[in-house]
Amino acid sequence: MSYFAQGPQQNLHAFTFSHVRAEQSLMKQKPLVIWMTGLSASGKSTIADALDLALRAQGRFTCIIDGDSVRTGLCRDLGFTDSDRDENIRRVAEVAGLMVAAGLIVIVALISPSSASRHYARSIIGNEHFVEVHVDAPLAIVEQRDPKGLYKKARSGLLKNFTGIDSNYDTPLFPEVHVQTHLFSVEQSVEIILGWMASAADPA
Ligand code: ADP
Repeated sequence: MSYFAQGPQQNLHAFTFSHVRAEQSLMKQKPLVIWMTGLSASGKSTIADALDLALRAQGRFTCIIDGDSVRTGLCRDLGFTDSDRDENIRRVAEVAGLMVAAGLIVIVALISPSSASRHYARSIIGNEHFVEVHVDAPLAIVEQRDPKGLYKKARSGLLKNFTGIDSNYDTPLFPEVHVQTHLFSVEQSVEIILGWMASAADPA
């Protein structure tokens, strides 16, 4: 049982449910959050989708949490100021943590620009269940790709607080996995992530 020491939650006592371990062993996989961070258009969603298909083909139980999807639902009340971005990440991390507790491999595709908030997400989920994947490509390349026309809008001033243009991105210093999508194909990036999982995060 855990207790919250202060604030309006002080009288809440979280119940420790007993089903969690049983579900994890039924799925025969190590629950994990694969947290993909990177600039818009670096390839997070594309690689998340291909990785998800590859894992399902291996018989794994997975779920994708994609930045754009959560912003139209769970986080639709949030904007793109630094504090709203932090809250967006906190909510995604909490949901991903629940899914991990249910035994899933959760693929998160979220720009998550600040290293502090990625660190916070890791602390919510737990270090042993958290893999940071830096989906990386130079700004010039992602700006050239610009599949949603967002860089163009940001450059022309129509879109404010856009990561890489007028909002900061903290480059991950020690990600567990680093894929450079200007050098590797989608398939190669998926292989790199699967390779890391096979060596470091195989089912218990
Ligand atoms: P993000 O989720 O990071 O915003 P998306 O996956 O939505 O990025 O978009 C990335 C774009 O870049 C897609 O149009 C994709 O086809 C393209 N792309 C080109 N080369 C690659 C690559 N090697 N890996 C991933 N995406 C790539």
